[in-house]
Amino acid sequence: MPACPLPADEALRQRTLDEMNLVDTPAEQYLDTLVRLTQDLAHVDTVLISLIDQDRQWFKARIGLEASETTRSISFCGYAILGEDTLMVPDATCDGRFIDNPLVLNAPYIRFYAGHPLRAGNGKAIGTLCMFDPRPRVLSQQQQANFKDLATLAEGYLQLRNLAQVNHDLRVEMDREQRKALLDPLTQLWNRGALTAFEEHERRAAETNGLQLGAVYADLDHFKAINDKYGHGGGDKVLCETARRLRAALRPDDLLVRHGGEEFVAVLLVKDSEELTRIAERIREQLGARPMQLPGSELKVTVSIGCTLFAKGETMDDALERADKGLYDAKQSGRNRVVYVTPPH
Ligand code: GH3
Ligand code: MG
Ligand code: MG
Repeated sequence: MPACPLPADEALRQRTLDEMNLVDTPAEQYLDTLVRLTQDLAHVDTVLISLIDQDRQWFKARIGLEASETTRSISFCGYAILGEDTLMVPDATCDGRFIDNPLVLNAPYIRFYAGHPLRAGNGKAIGTLCMFDPRPRVLSQQQQANFKDLATLAEGYLQLRNLAQVNHDLRVEMDREQRKALLDPLTQLWNRGALTAFEEHERRAAETNGLQLGAVYADLDHFKAINDKYGHGGGDKVLCETARRLRAALRPDDLLVRHGGEEFVAVLLVKDSEELTRIAERIREQLGARPMQLPGSELKVTVSIGCTLFAKGETMDDALERADKGLYDAKQSGRNRVVYVTPPH
């Protein structure tokens, strides 16, 4: 199998991607939504927003694939960024470029692939919106047009995001390696290390905006029973869906981390305890609003939440300890509820 060729403008292309500060950043609600819509549109197993980075492709959004990256040399998307239009592969076993590709010979057994290049403002292709499936197929004209429209939306979002630097966490000086060490690969949220890394930044942001810092500590209810019934893989799916729903219930600038196991922490800028409690309630409601889909079954998942405001000059650890007390009370008083704990004066 020939390794995927590099574009003629590779050096500038890579620099453009680097400058967008996109690789090794947490998943984002709008892109999660877009890949889900694309999946519904084409009824395919997997949809990705894939960024082509040096020697790997890294997935900024993904549905239907556990891996967060694969090597570039075997990637279909590496080919897709070479062209202007959608790369369509109705059956990879009939295409000389892919016939002996490990992704075709082994899991995920790609047969059908479609990838549309996503460009930065300067026209360089930084990645793709792509989909694939283990069954060969041809997209209808309508589906192809819709797919291109969705790629246009993804591209527009990435370009606007770059202009607005919406993700204020990334304004913190941090290189890619540091950022990568702070990501949880399963849920693509920040991990608990990010709480320390961004603590000062959050504090300053609160001061600058004349707002208070709030902590929300959320723990899934009876998660052990989910693992016992659906296996670790089923539990992992629930964790990923939980992360998606938490992101959707929060605002783009809120700091959301997977604190460990089935525990999540959000640090937010709020006006007062009422606003904090309202957001915590929204998280609780949106998490339990619809059952989660597991292969062959539906599952109602609920979450218990403790929340608190930071006292003046208080450390993250102290505030989290108090939020955790609220969480404990929420569990004790029947689960699937929010308990706010008043900070000391
Ligand atoms: P409660 O309502 O009191 O919170 O009950 P619980 O069962 O959710 O609480 P507990 O803390 O006892 O269980 C958490 C379980 O989460 C135990 C552990 O095996 C599981 N777990 C931790 N990390 C992971 C993970 O990455 N994937 C999966 N599938 N399970 C995990
Ligand atoms: Mg727990
Ligand atoms: Mg739990």
